[in-house]
Amino acid sequence: MPDTDRRTLLTGAAALAAASTTAAAAQDGQGAAAATTPAASAYPKPPFPVQRQPWPGLASKMNPRPDHGERSYKGSGKLAGKKALITGGDSGIGRAAAIAYAREGADVAINYLPAEEPDAREVVALIRAEGRKAVAIPGDLRDERFCRKLVAQAADQLGGLDILVNNAARQQTRPTIADISSQDFDDTMKTNVYAPFWLTRAALERMGPGAVIVNTSSEQAGDPSKDIIDYAMTRAAVLNFTKGMAKQLAPRGIRMNAVAPGPFWTPLQVSGGATPDKQRSFGESAPLGRPGQPAEIAALYVAAADPALSFSTGQIFGATGGNGQPA
Ligand code: NAD
Ligand code: MG
Repeated sequence: MPDTDRRTLLTGAAALAAASTTAAAAQDGQGAAAATTPAASAYPKPPFPVQRQPWPGLASKMNPRPDHGERSYKGSGKLAGKKALITGGDSGIGRAAAIAYAREGADVAINYLPAEEPDAREVVALIRAEGRKAVAIPGDLRDERFCRKLVAQAADQLGGLDILVNNAARQQTRPTIADISSQDFDDTMKTNVYAPFWLTRAALERMGPGAVIVNTSSEQAGDPSKDIIDYAMTRAAVLNFTKGMAKQLAPRGIRMNAVAPGPFWTPLQVSGGATPDKQRSFGESAPLGRPGQPAEIAALYVAAADPALSFSTGQIFGATGGNGQPA
């Protein structure tokens, strides 16, 4: 890359880091010179301002803005030289994982929906600011052909594929089962169950010993809420998929783990995922009394893929704020 391009990118990333510093400082009431690692006690607590974005929502338009670890995540080479594809890598938990993976030395491809381009650009700038390769591949995971193309393009552009993070998901709240249309049900299943299946099947054609697949489940897998029935079913399916596939893949030296979040402050919750009431009190029912910030779960995605944890497969890594883990 010519020096001028590189300078422009680095300047862009620096401006982004500065903007995020200002936003976070404004949130926690500290000056711009505040410490770079936020104290957990300073993270936002309910009540939250009720807000509604059209699906799929943008992290950059949330109030308060989520902390994805832009300023705080420090790597130590745990994923040096790895090549990773992360779905839903533009925002929320997937963005936090993308930042952490790049800072741990991985080249990262992210997938997202075309409407999320502004969020995706911020992530690409942050990955490149680490001197890592960033590949941005927008597209809809409900389409099997696109899933196959995504894996092929990511592997071609990264020069291989060592880690797949199945993280994208659809969650739309509906008061009763009568309000879940067959189209809703199909969209949720296609995004949250079919896509991880299609992506995993395609990725395994290219993966060898040492490769890892990391899925995103939820505390909803074991303790479903009454108004996200279709979504919660999919998080249980992913948990089961993880445990079965770990057994199937063990002889190939390939691992599969899952991360199970509790309530996290992300666009999914303000673009149809939660009712206004739930938004206002979001995270209140967790013993820690607040939602997690994506920055607080990134290290689990690193752990789930870390070659040092080579005996960990079929495992569920949790960050629920105290409410326990799905079985
Ligand atoms: P998010 O909105 O930031 O991320 C979800 C992403 O899914 C979006 O950014 C979007 O790119 C992607 N996506 C949705 N439909 C898609 C489609 N058809 N094609 C391509 N991409 C699509 O929200 P998040 O909370 O960070 O969600 C990430 C994961 O965390 C999900 O698997 C979710 O189930 C899980 N999770 C979230 C919470 C929470 O409280 N936020 C709790 C438990 C589990
Ligand atoms: Mg998004």
